Amino acid sequence: MVGTRTGFTAEKAPCGKTVAGEHYRDTDDAGLVIIDEYYNCGCRSIRHEYHDGSLHTRVIRHDGKVVSNEDHGS
Ligand SMILES: [Zn+2]
Repeated sequence: MVGTRTGFTAEKAPCGKTVAGEHYRDTDDAGLVIIDEYYNCGCRSIRHEYHDGSLHTRVIRHDGKVVSNEDHGS
């Protein structure tokens, strides 16, 4: 799989700061969807949808605190 990276200049990170960063998006023909956000302050936001319909999201602040961690399985 080859993902696509797209830069952004000002988005609100999970910590509340508005920072630059990068979107990462990857999909395949079978239904996998990966959307990750990488903020320059170190925060991350991750969304993974799998082939079986399950959804996994995670939001991690730059200080390492997990703000959100959810699995919606089938
Ligand atoms: Zn942050």
